[in-house]
Amino acid sequence: MSEIKTTCSRCGAQFTTEVPQSVNAAASSDLKEQVRSGELFTRTCPVCGTVNLLKFPFLYYDTDERLMIVLSDAPLAAEGLPEGYTGRLVASVGDLIEKIKIFECGLDDLVIEMCKFVTCQELKKDVPLKFLKSDGSDGEMTFTYPENGQMEMLAVGFNVYEDCAGILGRNPLIRESAAGLATIDQAWLSRFFR
Ligand SMILES: [Zn+2]
Repeated sequence: MSEIKTTCSRCGAQFTTEVPQSVNAAASSDLKEQVRSGELFTRTCPVCGTVNLLKFPFLYYDTDERLMIVLSDAPLAAEGLPEGYTGRLVASVGDLIEKIKIFECGLDDLVIEMCKFVTCQELKKDVPLKFLKSDGSDGEMTFTYPENGQMEMLAVGFNVYEDCAGILGRNPLIRESAAGLATIDQAWLSRFFR
């Protein structure tokens, strides 16, 4: 744990709070759930009671799944990544939670980014899609996006995932670029598709 100083987004009160520096999901399902729900990153202001979302450098890893996700604003070198691990660098708590959900569903986040890209093109919308879940016997995926101040949900058939997985399979250079501690998002994908 480390102590950080934070300022309430509503009343401006300053307070200090203890935050974890890392969580091994394989060692504690309880802590994993706290990351997944975002609870680990929220603190209630002692003055006005507003729930604030905190952001601090954080390492999420899973020794069973051989997964490491680093939440940080600064670019990091991949040297700390153990052999055989999938490494991801994310810039927000929302991105971290999205990655956890994708990997939890046994899906490939490279393919998911491509699904977002083709879905936006089909809809002729430029919205930041976020993966929410995948379920049903056909593996239908649900994405969310903000529109007019609300969170909209969007269902995408699993055939889109299969098509995108096929495209990535035929372009091995794209997968090679995801080695090490990679940032896999729409900006990354735009290096290959414009
Ligand atoms: Zn406050």
